[in-house]
Amino acid sequence: MKRKLVVGNWKMNGMTASLREIQKLGTAHPAPTVDILVCPPATLIATAAGLMAKSAIEIGAQDCHSAGSGAFTGDISAAMLSDIGAKAVIVGHSERREYHKESSALVSEKARSAHAAGLIAVICLGETEAERAAGQTLAIIADQLDASLPAGTTGDNTVIAYEPVWAIGSGLTPDRTQIAEVHDFLRDRLGERIGTSGAQAIRLLYGGSVKATNAAAIFAISNVDGALVGGASLLEKDFTPIIKALMD
Ligand code: PEP
Repeated sequence: MKRKLVVGNWKMNGMTASLREIQKLGTAHPAPTVDILVCPPATLIATAAGLMAKSAIEIGAQDCHSAGSGAFTGDISAAMLSDIGAKAVIVGHSERREYHKESSALVSEKARSAHAAGLIAVICLGETEAERAAGQTLAIIADQLDASLPAGTTGDNTVIAYEPVWAIGSGLTPDRTQIAEVHDFLRDRLGERIGTSGAQAIRLLYGGSVKATNAAAIFAISNVDGALVGGASLLEKDFTPIIKALMD
């Protein structure tokens, strides 16, 4: 049985003092019935991984380069992340697709590199507000999924996060029918690509303004196996109710 998963994406937030929040999470959830992954900024990964090594909290990264090593000033490879204790890496977040002009082809390369380094790739995709208004949501999701998924994708090495761009950090969320439509579509499309049982094994996360007050309703939707949480993952007191809602 696949375990449900909640991922915290700290984005470019968090100084060394913020590690206390991850330690509090470990204390609050000594034996969780779901997987908990926190992705702090790269500067905190090694220390966080060391501090949480004996806990149920896994530490991940927010991005990696597609190559294993080389002349890429300022970049970090998946192998380097693995070396400092990361267990997973987010790839294709809409903020990287938008601000760094990352294509789905590059996202696929990054996911392939993550797999090669033994990391779980959390592949993000989602439509913009204009694309939804134009009735293009499923076409965009299909294109992004098809092009972002590397060969060799399995439930053990890949998580898919559906994050409507317009819902991220906005306080807006799609209604339950809209989330179900995309998640059901993702499950079917994954089935066409890697077979039904392979598709069933992949955790499908919803992301975009998840908070304590809407988490339980979102987790009740078909084919939602957890959440990718931004703002509400920064403080243990905000993240814990979301984790508890997933465990219920
Ligand atoms: C995110 O950054 O992936 C995200 C979902 O952010 P928020 O929860 O703040 O909308």
